[in-house]
Amino acid sequence: MSDNEQHIIAEFDKCPGCGSTNRLAGSVADEQKAKGLLGEDWKMGIYQMGGVIVDPTKVNQMLVGTRVPVVSALVDVCLDCGTIYAVRLERGERALQAVQMPPLPPGSPMPPMSG
Ligand SMILES: [Zn+2]
Repeated sequence: MSDNEQHIIAEFDKCPGCGSTNRLAGSVADEQKAKGLLGEDWKMGIYQMGGVIVDPTKVNQMLVGTRVPVVSALVDVCLDCGTIYAVRLERGERALQAVQMPPLPPGSPMPPMSG
């Protein structure tokens, strides 16, 4: 899994709105940990969002396998005031996958270059 390794760059354990540490997925995760159904190392949230940081007008000119930066945020909801906030921020790198563009038939004119 070293190809897609993420590194934690920040963690927040208190709601920025009210300072509570009670959060939705986190509290359910704690229940599961107490039952032995979830490993102690797991940090849970309601949603993980993020993606690669690439210029969409240039990605088609990049070689498959090029290392591109990836960022993600794990978010959860405060049980006391409803604020949705990030509990973990991560960044890493990923090898660029094959571009999902249909191949041009032979003899097609080159598409116009943007930028
Ligand atoms: Zn709160």
